[in-house]
Amino acid sequence: THSTDPTASTPARSQQLFERAQRVIPGGVNSPVRAFRAVGGTPRFIARAQGAHLWDADGQRYIDYIGSWGPMILGHGHPAALEAVQKAALEGFSFGAPTEREVELAEEILRHVPSMEMVRLVSSGTEAGMSAIRLARGATGRSVIVKFNGCYHGHADSLLVKAGSGLATFGHATSAGVPPEVVQHTLVLEYNDVAQLDEAFALHGADIACVIMEPIAGNMNFVRASVPFMQRARELCTQHGALLILDEVMTGFRVALGGAQSLYAQQIPGFAPDLTVLGKVIGGGMPLAAFGGPRAVMEQLAPLGPVYQAGTLSGNPVATACGLATLREISRPGFYDRLAARTRAWMQGLEDAARAEGVPLVTDCEGGMFGFFLLPELPQNYPQVLATDGPRFNRLFHGLLARGVYIAPALYEAGFVSSAHTEDDIAQSVAAAREVFRELSK
Ligand code: PLP
Repeated sequence: THSTDPTASTPARSQQLFERAQRVIPGGVNSPVRAFRAVGGTPRFIARAQGAHLWDADGQRYIDYIGSWGPMILGHGHPAALEAVQKAALEGFSFGAPTEREVELAEEILRHVPSMEMVRLVSSGTEAGMSAIRLARGATGRSVIVKFNGCYHGHADSLLVKAGSGLATFGHATSAGVPPEVVQHTLVLEYNDVAQLDEAFALHGADIACVIMEPIAGNMNFVRASVPFMQRARELCTQHGALLILDEVMTGFRVALGGAQSLYAQQIPGFAPDLTVLGKVIGGGMPLAAFGGPRAVMEQLAPLGPVYQAGTLSGNPVATACGLATLREISRPGFYDRLAARTRAWMQGLEDAARAEGVPLVTDCEGGMFGFFLLPELPQNYPQVLATDGPRFNRLFHGLLARGVYIAPALYEAGFVSSAHTEDDIAQSVAAAREVFRELSK
């Protein structure tokens, strides 16, 4: 009964739950992309997960390439993480007071990311990004933020913005409820466009507090910042006294132990961002995120400095236990080599299957993060990503889902492989993909 028709194989229990959910939760979901709006059909309600697999409420199994949108680098229910969480829960859920484990986690993060001398823990990537921007503005005494089209840094008001017309005009809010005044200091540029970056600094350099970017943009599927682009961003920030913020919520501890910045540092001598934003993997699936940077900047934060930032659940004892256990596992020798090899095998298999069926497809990956495009060549920016044939992607998505392979339900989202994915999982996924490509090529 395999089919690429989204409605053909909707499991009954997910359908019932979705109807019930829609009565009490807007759109039936607590985060919009989960609703399958882009691809159509009914989201699967997940009942449990183990290793690389999810089971939905109807008992269907899926090979999971979403991994909770990035955190589950060890797969689901890893024994070390599970044990750490169980032990921490017995000691107490939350104290609202400092704990030894927060210090350990901070030390562990700093050990792997040398651009950070101090770090503050928060509960979500949104919070971390928003706080890093406030800190950058506070530390520089400036207002303007530069961000890039297609990069996502959470849903803080000042970041929900699309480009205005030309560099002299600032952005327009992309969400209702965001007053124009709130985005009037946000400048949106095209990713990987060095000339535009030069021009923006020439026009506004003295007012720019920070440039924030995803070093590998996972919110436009998978688009790398080119080395010249990253290098120029670094130079311009330094020349003009602005802070370079790398949002490594997705890439941090995911593409390499030292994050994407460690990869750019290999290619750009002396490269380091000023501030780094982390999330996802550092919590191992628990609500935990962080931002950090040089001591002199971080000491601008309350209670030491004038930039306010706080959180009832920040540094939560159960979340920090999960994060620490996760970081310990992933810092074992060879972890990323094995993860990257598995991810590459999946992408290579996908490319081979597509070629065999005459479907244009390109892929890229780094560590345990991947992207693939139904395009003849890798895109460099968001408009190029959006040139993908949407209906075709949707058929691919539903074809894979019907065959038990769970990829992100939108063509602008990255995918993730965990250390729990086996060769067998990859082989099954590739076989499923080949069947779907055959249907697509008809
Ligand atoms: N930054 C990036 C690069 C992200 O991918 C995300 C979430 O997907 C965020 C920030 C926001 O993190 P959160 O969803 O934890 O608020």
